[in-house]
Amino acid sequence: MTTRVVVTGAGGFIGHHLVKYLKARGYYVRGVDIVHPEYEPTVADEFEILDLRRWDACLLAVRGMDQVYNLAANMGGIGFIESNKAVIVHDNTLINIHMLEAARQHQIKKYLYTSSACIYPGYLQKSPDIQPLKEEQAYPADAEDGYGWEKLYTERACRHYMEDYGIQTYSVRFHNIFGPLGTYDGGREKSPAAICRKVALAADGDTIEVWGDGLQTRSYCYVDDCVEGIYRLMQSDFHNPINLGQDRMISINELVDIVSNIAGKTIHRRHDLTKPQGVRGRNSDNTLLREVLKWEPQVSLEAGLKLTYEWISGQIKR
Ligand code: NAD
Repeated sequence: MTTRVVVTGAGGFIGHHLVKYLKARGYYVRGVDIVHPEYEPTVADEFEILDLRRWDACLLAVRGMDQVYNLAANMGGIGFIESNKAVIVHDNTLINIHMLEAARQHQIKKYLYTSSACIYPGYLQKSPDIQPLKEEQAYPADAEDGYGWEKLYTERACRHYMEDYGIQTYSVRFHNIFGPLGTYDGGREKSPAAICRKVALAADGDTIEVWGDGLQTRSYCYVDDCVEGIYRLMQSDFHNPINLGQDRMISINELVDIVSNIAGKTIHRRHDLTKPQGVRGRNSDNTLLREVLKWEPQVSLEAGLKLTYEWISGQIKR
């Protein structure tokens, strides 16, 4: 019998890619979001516009389904999450607690929650050359204010629901997912998309603005690897939070250089130290990921950025 799954946040970046991935594997997919996908039509079997902050909407979202992939969240890049803490905490708390309880009431067999590297303590991320973050280092907690604390709390809620009610929950901590069909302007975009946009708009020899001194570090994971990792995790019997990201750490300045090379342009950087830059350094430790999934992300940063740059520059030219 065909497995029936609901993907929330299916109008968003990762959710839209996940719907395509699951459809290609023969699942019956219901997509749910408050918006339709922005850049191409969904391939979901059904797509419902539902505001998942509402309890009744969550009941509708999960009805008749076997599995839930809960990706819906009010979120964005560092500029957005640092200046919208109250609304983020309000919206995401309601979405996540209602979705979990609706899943329990509808006897959902498997439930995936998308957490974030933003749950890791600030005190471990104060230098650009930090050690990769291991899952158990989430505690003692000092998560990203607002967005990160809500993610950490919801990971725990998933564990409680599994322990007390037996619903099979999974929590995956993404580390900077990027790729085509993601937001690249408007204020919610993340650093890879923002840099691709700035480079695409610049002429050869131009200067672009970079937030902070550009020495802050991150690792970046291409979206195809992200949806593959999500899927593999859902086939596993591993229920503790787990990292999903690349473990190649680079600085924002290096990211600009890679994108400039892809574009074939000489780009200079003007650093704006007044802009938010998040933690000083962050990288994923993939030891547990490799052990549990017998797999790790495959797409190189250069290959992923090339596809992303080409898509964003194509969008800009339209
Ligand atoms: P996204 O913003 O593109 O997608 C999120 C979707 O949730 C949006 O389409 C939005 O409309 C929808 N949504 C928001 N409020 C809703 C509501 N009340 N009811 C229904 N839908 C609602 O973000 P994304 O990058 O695709 O992220 C997906 C998930 O992964 C989120 O939970 C996010 O926190 C998590 N995550 C993403 C990253 C990343 O690098 N992209 C990193 C860590 C965690």
